[in-house]
Order: sequence, then structure tokens, then C-alpha cells
Amino acid sequence: MTLHVPFDNSYGRLPDRFYSRLAPTPVSEPGLIQVNDALAAELGLDPQALRSPEGVAALAGNAVPDGADPLAQVYAGHQFGGWNPQLGDGRAILLGEVIDTNGVRRDLQLKGAGPTPYSRMGDGRAWLGPVLREYIVSEAMHALGIPTTRALAAVTTGDPVIRNGALPGAVLTRVASSHVRVGTFQYFAARGDLEALQALTDYVIERHYPEAGDALGLLNAVTARQARLVAQWLGVGFIHGVMNTDNSSVAGETIDYGPCAFMDAYHPGKVFSSIDQYGRYAYAKQPEIAVWNMAQLATAILPLIDPDQNTAIEKATEAVNRFPDIYQDAWIATFGAKLGLADATAEDVPLIEALLTLMTEQGADFTRTFRGLSEDSARAEFSDPSGFDDWATRWAARRPSDWQDRARAANPAVIARNHRVEQAISAAVAGDYAPFLTLNEALATPFRLSPDHAHLAEAPGPEEEVRQTFC
Ligand code: AMP
Ligand code: MG
Ligand code: MG
Repeated sequence: MTLHVPFDNSYGRLPDRFYSRLAPTPVSEPGLIQVNDALAAELGLDPQALRSPEGVAALAGNAVPDGADPLAQVYAGHQFGGWNPQLGDGRAILLGEVIDTNGVRRDLQLKGAGPTPYSRMGDGRAWLGPVLREYIVSEAMHALGIPTTRALAAVTTGDPVIRNGALPGAVLTRVASSHVRVGTFQYFAARGDLEALQALTDYVIERHYPEAGDALGLLNAVTARQARLVAQWLGVGFIHGVMNTDNSSVAGETIDYGPCAFMDAYHPGKVFSSIDQYGRYAYAKQPEIAVWNMAQLATAILPLIDPDQNTAIEKATEAVNRFPDIYQDAWIATFGAKLGLADATAEDVPLIEALLTLMTEQGADFTRTFRGLSEDSARAEFSDPSGFDDWATRWAARRPSDWQDRARAANPAVIARNHRVEQAISAAVAGDYAPFLTLNEALATPFRLSPDHAHLAEAPGPEEEVRQTFC
């Protein structure tokens, strides 16, 4: 069986200073964990060929498939607000692009494929835990209907990776609409490289926003997509964890699943990441951080918006200032749908907020409370249900007749709960991939829970609860 990947590469035609061309570093013993059949089909790839020895060698970086143009992309970024002028793919290699069966250009990238000129102090590798976490959570986000990078495959390398001790190494094949980040623009802006900035802007407009026309149109379009994306994150209790500008995709996809988490008990201030000491990227701060990131994009492309700096600032500010309204509308639509409303408006905000306040006060489980609205079990999520009962009376007065179907379609029964992700990782490290496979299967249809997967809809017990996540 031969692996045929119909590459059609465009990023490698950008100027040399956009990347470093290099092949992945081979590993000792490639071992297949999983191939995502549905995604392979969407990309026009044969899943059986990906599972063949030749396919697994390609997924591990031991062989470069015909037509690939492997390279590491350069970018910069603000990490926790601090400027870093030189980042880049330190452990990821873009193999190339394919045009999927819908005609959309998609990147194929190997994450954990060995050192690159941008590795800084890193080893260029990933261990099994983060690879499985990204696989599980990115595919879960997709199934929830949230724009995201995808996971095509995961393989083990047979080589240890040293973190806190030796851990099994792995490589994830990531698929994205592109890997262009706010930080990619910042990299060239910081160098005053207007030619590169223009080339990048033209590239992104052609690839993602053909209707945008120019740099200002691009800023408006990216801002709108980010605003809707973050509203969707909040709608499922998702906390990205590292909303640095290098982890902010201009295509508007969720990217870079590091210490991310879905919360169990609701609290707007929830933070999981061990490195987010000051709560910069807490659940409810995500919209304002996204605005901040959009302001960095605006700053980077300012010279392309208007030759007169004051005019450029005025136009860019106006564009970024549209974020709050777009976000608010998306948030109301998202949470209105969660209550089963057909046409939520700003007038419904007090009703939505009242429920969230009760949930905060009593630490009600986010997913179970919302799902419970349509299953008559939300009340049981409150230790003192009297407040909920009063709220439910107000809610009942506002609901349309088909509210239950609406709520069921908007509230997942199962999310990638931290403790289940951690259990899947621990089992895999011990050689048992069954929990990983079961979790993926349940998360593929999050609005329809099969009885076999009922345990995955349960909240963690006090002993099981994971309070901190690590990169
Ligand atoms: P992140 O916090 O995952 O967005 O990573 C920030 C930067 O560090 C990116 O440029 C990564 O490519 C790089 N990086 C993360 N882990 C490693 C590693 N193990 N080896 C080399 N570079 C890394
Ligand atoms: Mg990153
Ligand atoms: Mg990362």
C-alpha cells in the first residue's frame, strides 16, 4: 500500500524569511496510536495507507512523503503580555498543504517532530500526554461545532522525552486552516519589514478572507471571528489557558492546546494552568484578552491600513472596538440557545446572568446544569435549590414551546473533563489505550450520550478532580 498525499503547497512560496526549510528528525521506533478516519476522508487521504508502515513512518517524521515541503514557520509573540521578538515552530514542522474535499486548503503539521532553528532551549519533542490531550480536546471541540485545529493522527516515537523524569515521546499530526498567528504579523512588524508584512497580509486575505479586500478589512474579519470563537468557548466552559498572541490564529480557529481545560464546577474566575499565576487567562477574562490580542494585530498592520499614522490608528481602533458588540451578540445567542430560547436578545441577559450567579454561588457543575435544563435534572446540581426554583419560574415564562429540543441541541451531555483526560493519559502511559479510544468515541457525539458512556457525563468526585493543568 502506498501513501499518496496530494500536496498543494503555498506557504513555501512566500519569501525565505518566513520559515526555515528542514525535514523532521527521525525517531527510533514509530508506533501507531490512532488515525482519524473521518478527517482523513475529509482530506482525501486513505486512512489505510496512513496506517501502513509507510504511512506510520511519515506520521512519525521518519519519511517525508512525496510532494511535501517541510518547514518550520517563524513568528514572534506576547507571552503573558511580555514581548518575545523571536519564537517560531520550535517543535512543529509543516509538511505542506492539501485541498480538502470541500475545496478548503488545510495545513498538515507534525508536532513533536524534532528541533528546529526556533527551538531555543527546547528539545523539539512532545511527550505522550500533551499529544493525547490535544487529540482528545481538539476533536471534542470540533464535535461541539467550535472552530479548531484538528488531529489527524498520533504516533509514539520509541524515544524517551525528559520532562519530570523520562516519558514516552509522541508526535501529533495537526491539521489547521493555516498556522498563521497574530505573532506572525508581529514578527515582521517588529523588524519594520513592510514588504513581508504586505506579502503576509495578501496571503491571509487570499487564503481566509477573500472578501476582506485590504488590511483594514482583514482586521475587521479576524476581530469578528475571534469574538465569535471566544463566545463559543464560554458556551462550553472552555478555558484556553495560554492566549498568547502566538497562540491566536488569524483564521479564527482554536489553536495550541496546552494547559487548556473544560471546567467542572462553574466559576467565572476559574484558572487551571500551572503557569498562569495571576489568572491573566481566566475563563471570564478571555474576551478582553482576545481584544488585547486584536489590538496587537492592529498595531502590527497599522502601516498597511493608512499611510497617515493618525488616520490608520483611528481606523484600526474603530475595527478593534467592534469586538465587544460582536462578542456580546454571539454570547447572548450562545447562552440564549442554552436556555432553549429561539430569539434571545439583550433583554435576556439578566435571566442568563441570574442562573450563572446561582451556579457560581453554589459551585454547580457547568455542563450538567445546562444539560440538566432539558433533562429535568438541573435542580439536583444545587445544594440549596430554592434559588434555582425561583429562577426556573422566570425561565418558564420566557420559553418557547420547542425549548427542550433547542436546549438539548445547544448543551452537550459530555465534554472532555480533565479527570477523564488525565485518566486516559495515565492508562496510555501504562500501555492501555482503551480509555483514550472510549473517550474519543463519546466526545464525537457530545449531544447524544450512549448508555455505555454515562460515566463520562459525571462530574469528578472530590478525589478525582483535577485542579491544575500543565503544558
Ligand atoms: P507554547 O507555549 O506551546 O505556545 O510554545 C511557545 C513556543 O515554545 C513555541 O514557539 C513552541 O514551538 C516552543 N516550544 C514549546 N515546547 C517546545 C519544545 N519541547 N522544544 C522546542 N520548542 C518548544
Ligand atoms: Mg504555541
Ligand atoms: Mg504549545
